[in-house]
Amino acid sequence: MPKKIYINGQFLAEADAKISVFDHGLLYGDGVFEGLRIYGGKVFRLEEHVDRLFESAKAIWLELPLSREEICEAINQTVAANELHDGYVRAIVTRGVGTLGLDPRRCSDPQLILIADKIALYPDEYYQNGLEIITVSVIRNHPAALSARIKSLNYLNNILAKIEGIQGGCIEALMLNHKGEVAECTGDNLFLVKEGKVTTPPLDAGILAGVTRAAVLELAEKLGLSATEQVLTKHDIYVADECFLTGTAAEVIPVVQLDSRMIGDGKPGPVTRQLTEAFHQMVRE
Ligand code: PMP
Repeated sequence: MPKKIYINGQFLAEADAKISVFDHGLLYGDGVFEGLRIYGGKVFRLEEHVDRLFESAKAIWLELPLSREEICEAINQTVAANELHDGYVRAIVTRGVGTLGLDPRRCSDPQLILIADKIALYPDEYYQNGLEIITVSVIRNHPAALSARIKSLNYLNNILAKIEGIQGGCIEALMLNHKGEVAECTGDNLFLVKEGKVTTPPLDAGILAGVTRAAVLELAEKLGLSATEQVLTKHDIYVADECFLTGTAAEVIPVVQLDSRMIGDGKPGPVTRQLTEAFHQMVRE
């Protein structure tokens, strides 16, 4: 099936979907993006993702070319045009074509790009047995340098952390913030469970406000579990009963080891399983 890529209102074949080498999205990572999930032909939490796209854009002083409603509509059209029942949508807004200088005022119109495709998931064994992760030396961006709330096209902070994780034999890695507190993983938010209570770092730990994180907090409350946002340290994870990550691509995935310390009994725990099941049900609804 040929991919139809949306650029500024037009659907183009993959080979024709091109952006200028002078676009500041390429030259400087000057732009914002979203990753969304398609379940049963419908985009999960579309409004939340589009709201976050607008907030990211606002924070970098980028005016989006369409309204929220128009972007939602364009995303739905892209899903339909690609006849995807289950998959992933990447929404990208670049600053547009500019000069070889930083000044965003010299850029032309922002470019809205929508790509819908199948999704490459983590291998099933990780969902069954849990991930082993390490804490990397790369800290999450200092909020005064670049807020982690902005889902910007400059993902080098996370990529450098991911490289360190991979070199340490882990496909996901824990990032601390500038205060040494737990922030998040390179592409996922983190939760732990201790004595039946679910906790996750607060947004001011310097993390992305994950859409899946919010959904899991809602589910925990619905299930009658105690769920709070709390400053966490690595130690809290070492001594937790359970740990799991959340993300649009990963959904809910158990973590069974951090820095060679087994978490709980080293197996995905019952609360993680319960929330995973509830999440699967939620996306099917
Ligand atoms: N943190 C980071 C750094 C991310 O890039 C992502 C998205 N992959 C997440 C957390 C999870 O956010 P969401 O649930 O909205 O996908």
